[in-house]
Amino acid sequence: MEPIHIIGAGLAGSEAAWQIARAGLPVVLHEMRPQVATFAHRTGDCAEMVCSNSFRSDDDRMNAVGQLHWEMRAAGGLIMAMAARHRLPAGGALAVDRDAFSQAVTQALQAEPLVSFQPGEIRELPTEGRWIVATGPLTSEALGQSIRGLTGEGSLAFFDAIAPIVHAESIDMSICWRQSRYDKGETEAERTAYINCPMTREDYEGFIDALLAADKTEFHEGETAGYFDGCLPIEVMAERGRETLRHGPMKPVGLTNAHNPAEKPYAVVQLRRDNALGTLYNIVGFQTKMKYGAQIDVFRRIPGLQDARFARLGGIHRNSFLNSPRLIDDRLRLRARPNLRFAGQVTGVEGYVESAAMGLLAGRMAAAEALGRDLPPPPATTSMGALVNHITGGADAKTFQPMNVNFGLYPPLDAMRGGRKGRKDRYPAYTDRAKADFQQWLAGQS
Ligand SMILES: Cc1cc2nc3c(=O)[nH]c(=O)nc-3n(C[C@H](O)[C@H](O)[C@H](O)COP(=O)(O)OP(=O)(O)OC[C@H]3O[C@@H](n4cnc5c(N)ncnc54)[C@H](O)[C@@H]3O)c2cc1C
Repeated sequence: MEPIHIIGAGLAGSEAAWQIARAGLPVVLHEMRPQVATFAHRTGDCAEMVCSNSFRSDDDRMNAVGQLHWEMRAAGGLIMAMAARHRLPAGGALAVDRDAFSQAVTQALQAEPLVSFQPGEIRELPTEGRWIVATGPLTSEALGQSIRGLTGEGSLAFFDAIAPIVHAESIDMSICWRQSRYDKGETEAERTAYINCPMTREDYEGFIDALLAADKTEFHEGETAGYFDGCLPIEVMAERGRETLRHGPMKPVGLTNAHNPAEKPYAVVQLRRDNALGTLYNIVGFQTKMKYGAQIDVFRRIPGLQDARFARLGGIHRNSFLNSPRLIDDRLRLRARPNLRFAGQVTGVEGYVESAAMGLLAGRMAAAEALGRDLPPPPATTSMGALVNHITGGADAKTFQPMNVNFGLYPPLDAMRGGRKGRKDRYPAYTDRAKADFQQWLAGQS
């Protein structure tokens, strides 16, 4: 049988290759790294995590991304299996040791006899054969041109920002303390997964002033099509209102200052462990486009980080994605050339987990098609189905922007109470329904 080809061995491409091999079909992975670099990847490994080391909430009852984890595990996903193997304590989140994780994904694929690797950049969309394009937000320039040439509409481009990473030994623990919000987690390590830096009102006001005054990187004209709201740079959040950060990543709730339990901090900056050794911590939610020098000055104003040394400073990045509602069908095929499927962030989902989930689906769909079967997407009542439904039909093509999975994409449950108060009952009802429907979808394939 002719192999299925995949362009890009990132989160989506790696998962797609695994699913195809599990279906008993040969697959060829074309990856341009390390021969051709991107500004964000550091290695030649598969499924490299370019920024945060977290797959976000692992709560499959109250959280739509946790439910997506559950679905990927139920479908025998490689990314979730390797994440479990290299998991780090992170409260209710699924965080991993990033290098060990991507090496494990690479080794699992290398050990799979049906998977072969063909290193190098694919510069043009192929015309023959069955292909999955999983080239991500940093799709190479040449291939991007080729995609634009075929779709006639151009992939959109916008910028996300990267959060800085601090060396743990440079954090002043006589000021900071370890605690997960609301002491969440089953083990002591999870309950103490975060390092917290407390701020008084005066500290906070001074910090906001410094943030607003800091030198920022200028965008070139026409470079930004607007920010994605889930990943706003902190200085942009501060520009939207002085209190915005205190209600966002710097909210002081669910935390008690171990050095001074009687005094409630006015704001708190949290750092999350970034590697298994516990030597690196990232500043949670602090993506930024401040210039490097300014970042050091501003971040060292945070109590406890006055002597911080940075393993990596924040930055800005490009993000290419298709106008999927117009260009892609619900089997993830390009309408204009159905032998090409798209998967991952380039389809307009946002995030590691969502990208890997679209890889899982594209892999299964391509394998089914090669075997003469048609595989419909999972029902829209599941996290995976809700995402596909959104990018290939639910979203308005005119205003299409990348999307994280969330319960807002789920079809409502008639009998349930709406609003904030109804969440306690509504979310478990959503995820119960999702699990039953996903299992049924899986059973239909065996
Ligand atoms: C700088 C940055 C930071 C991000 N931070 C986060 C974060 O913290 N959390 C989060 O959940 N998501 C984050 N994202 C978004 C997204 O989840 C990740 O980019 C994720 O890796 C997307 O998975 P993917 O498989 O679609 O793409 P990738 O993982 O990027 O994989 C695409 C692969 O295709 C290869 N490739 C590209 N063009 C070609 C070509 N022409 N030929 C051959 N190979 C090619 C690339 O080298 C790469 O290995 C970030 C994105 C960027 C760019």
